[in-house]
Parts: sequence; structure tokens; C-alpha cells
Amino acid sequence: MADYDVIVIGGGPGGYVCAIRCAQLGLKTACVEGRETLGGTCLNVGCIPSKALLHATHELHEAEHNFAKMGLKGKSPSVDWKQMQAYKQEVIDGNTKGIEFLFKKNKIDWLKGWGSIPAAGQVKVGDEVHNAKNIVIATGSEPASLPGIEIDEKTVVTSTGALSLGKIPKSMVVIGAGVIGLEMGSVYARLGAEVTVVEYLDAITPGMDGEVARNFQKILSKQGLKFVLGAAVQGVEVKGGKATVKYQLRKDESEATLEAETVLVATGRKPYTDGLGLEGVGVEMLPRGQIKTDAHWATNVTGIYAIGDAIVGPMLAHKAEDEGMAVAEVLAGKHGHVNYDVIPGVIYTTPEVASVGQTEEALKQEGRAYKVGKFSFMGNARAKAVFQGEGFVKLIADKETDRVLGCHIIGPGAGDLIHEICVAMEFGASAQDVALTCHAHPTFSEAVREAALACGDGAIHA
Ligand code: FAD
Repeated sequence: MADYDVIVIGGGPGGYVCAIRCAQLGLKTACVEGRETLGGTCLNVGCIPSKALLHATHELHEAEHNFAKMGLKGKSPSVDWKQMQAYKQEVIDGNTKGIEFLFKKNKIDWLKGWGSIPAAGQVKVGDEVHNAKNIVIATGSEPASLPGIEIDEKTVVTSTGALSLGKIPKSMVVIGAGVIGLEMGSVYARLGAEVTVVEYLDAITPGMDGEVARNFQKILSKQGLKFVLGAAVQGVEVKGGKATVKYQLRKDESEATLEAETVLVATGRKPYTDGLGLEGVGVEMLPRGQIKTDAHWATNVTGIYAIGDAIVGPMLAHKAEDEGMAVAEVLAGKHGHVNYDVIPGVIYTTPEVASVGQTEEALKQEGRAYKVGKFSFMGNARAKAVFQGEGFVKLIADKETDRVLGCHIIGPGAGDLIHEICVAMEFGASAQDVALTCHAHPTFSEAVREAALACGDGAIHA
């Protein structure tokens, strides 16, 4: 008889959510986690600590730039880096302990240690082998680097090192203008570092709506971030605690260097499946290191499933969580489902950037007729009151049917506003449905409604 109905390997947002849902559905569940704390990359060295630092430095920025305008005079706060780190750790601890509590509440066994799969139906942790009817692999991802770059997590760091630097550097080069690079770059720019972002492509945030990306770059530049685009980094040399980043501009192949106290390598992440023994049990992998699954997260080996960053798709905590819940439903004999067309993406800078669904670029390529309703936050009273009139909401709807196809927001609270459109898309709503919904005044969400109105007879405050 099996010890467990399900053993989940990995206690990140994919794994812990899967374990909780399995237990709620009456399955005897264990979760294997090798870290000291639950919560995975997201809670320990990802989403949560980065948002704590973004919050603290946003408040600092407000004090430095906007308090006096509101009649709040006096010296801006000085930065106590050690205390800011302690605050960040407190936020992490509160959240990871919360997951431990939820495990106890749901009677999930936390098998502490690194797990491997000696055979289908078996998970080995330390010297013990546990039997399971089903195994869910949720081992996540790790930072990816570039050839010619040696990470020491002191001078040349990944996001993990960047979250816990010994001191605030005077200068930082960020390699890669993706979400993580721009969020961490913003943190250190607000703390006074001179931040230069070097990106291989000609635009920041690849895959994002082009108009939003261009505006975002302008706003970040005004905040002091510098950008070198179309630049292939060739290597980083560290001497006497200083780093020199060598790059070649793609347009004319000219070479240049940048010096910095710290280099953050933010060139993406790769699936982490080391030590699981997948080759031994014959689990099929994809060329880029992800575990291959079918539409119901099953691998080619009966009883072994995989979710989250370890499989294909956007490397996002909420995508992993949704897959965790859905695969639990499948294992309990129900119908788990994830709508991959409606997965929002958010960048937690100031202003925030958020998007869901199709971009104009993708629709053009597809040859689908669409219309765009746009509304600037300059026409939103609440945004202006908090000095966040920069940015806009861009709603995209099908030209014929008016069905909402996507939304791209740069502006205050974008990361929360986007969910109105996620729900609208889930319900197959039209832009008019959004436009006819009463939105409270004065809220940032009125800008979303105005963008929906702009898809029809026109926005009111434009
Ligand atoms: P992970 O969170 O990576 O968890 C996997 C866990 O499995 C780890 O704890 C690992 O220790 C454990 N493990 C691995 N192998 C074994 C083994 N053999 N035995 C036992 N345990 C094992 N996403 C967002 O949606 N929003 C954000 O704001 C955001 N910000 C981010 C900021 C940073 C700096 C970083 C690095 C990432 C961020 N992400 C964000 C991405 C997000 O963290 C990941 O998409 C998410 O954590 C993936 O969840 P997961 O459960 O698949 O894997």
C-alpha cells in the first residue's frame, strides 16, 4: 500500500498550493522541500523580498520627491540598509511560516530534505523511500547566466545576491532589461546607485506591448536609469572588487565597457531538475531543460506529473499556483483547467506595468482585425492627486464582436487594475460590458472604464 496518495516535490507556489489543494480534496499528501523554509523561490528569494524592497524604496522616493509638494516638510528619511534588510526578512519569515501553518492545518507532511525519484511511485528523501500513487514535480527554476560571466554573488550577482547585498553600491550594471532586472534596478536607483541597464534587444521588456515598453523606458529614464540597448555582453571582469562589463553594440559591432561596483545578471531563469533522477525513470525532457508534459501536466511516465517553472510557460508564481490547483483536481478525479490565454504579467516598479492577453503586435501578425481604446492617467483625478498621471490604459477588443482581447496598463495600481480585465476575459466580455459597469469615483479603475468607453463612442475625460 502506498504511504501517500500524492507526494509533491518542491514547496514553492506551485508545490505548496498543489499540496494544500490535494489535501483539501481528501488525498493523503506530503511535500518534499530541501530549503529550510517553505515558499520556494517566490517567498524566499523572489516575488516577496523584491516587493518588500520595492515598497520601502518607493516610500523613500515619495518622501524625497512628493512629500514637500503636499506640505509635508522636513528632512527626508535616511536609509538604514541593515534595518531595511531586517524588514525584508521579517516579511519573508511571516509568509514562509504562514505556509508551514497551512501545512499543519491541512495535515500535509513536510518531508524535509532533497527528494529524488528512484522509480515511478517512489520518492527518496535522505535514506528513506516513500511510496506514492502519484508524484508531482514542482522543483522550480534557478537563475541563468551568460557565457563569460562568473557569478560570485558579491560583485557579480543574480537576483538572489541582489536582494541581500552587503551595502548599497554606488553603481550597478544590470544585464537584461526584463522584469527582474528592472525591478531590482529601480530599487537601487531609488537608493542612490547609478544604474545602467544593458539589453541585447532594441527594446526593454521583450514580449510586452511596444507602446507600453517605449513609455516605460522613458519614465524609467526620467527616474535616472540609463539604458544601453542592442548590446551583446561579452564578459565581466572583476578586479579589486570592481567589475568591468564588456559589450558589443549590435548595430555597428563597436565595443565598449562599463564599470560598476555591482553587476546584476538578470538574463532569465532556467528550469531546475538537478538530482531528481529523471533520466533514470525515463521522464522526457524538452531541449530547453523543461519537463515535457501533456495538457493535464502528466509526463510520459504514468503517475508522474510536473508543474510551475519546471515546465513550459511563463515563469510566474500565479501560473505555478494555478497549475498546482489544477493538477490536484486531476489527481482527485476532477477536471483541472488553466486558461493560459488569461495569465496576467505585472512589473512592480513605479508606475506599475501590467498586461494580459494579446498585444497589438501579436494581433497584427495574426492578421486579426482589432480596435484600441486608450485612456491617459492624466485624465484620472485620483492619479493626478497622487502625482501619478504618467501612463495609460490600453484596451484591445475584436473589431467586429467587441470582445476584449487584451489590456496593457502603465500607471498607478496597474497590477491590481488588470484583474478587472482578466475577469472580463474569462467571462468573454465585450469592451462595452466593461464600459457599462459602474466604477467608483475617484479610483484609478475609472481609467480602465474610460479605455473601454474609448473602444466605443469615446471616453468622457479625454
Ligand atoms: P519555485 O518557487 O522555484 O520552488 C521550487 C522549490 O522546490 C524550491 O523551494 C526548491 O528548494 C525546491 N526543490 C527543488 N528541487 C528539489 C528537490 N529535489 N527536493 C526538494 N525540494 C526541491 N513571479 C511572479 O508571479 N511575481 C513576481 O513578482 C515575481 N517576482 C520575482 C522576483 C525575483 C527576484 C525572482 C527570482 C522571481 C520572481 N518571480 C515572480 C517568479 C516566481 O518566483 C516563480 O515563477 C515561482 O517561484 C515558481 O514557482 P515554482 O513552485 O514552480 O518553483
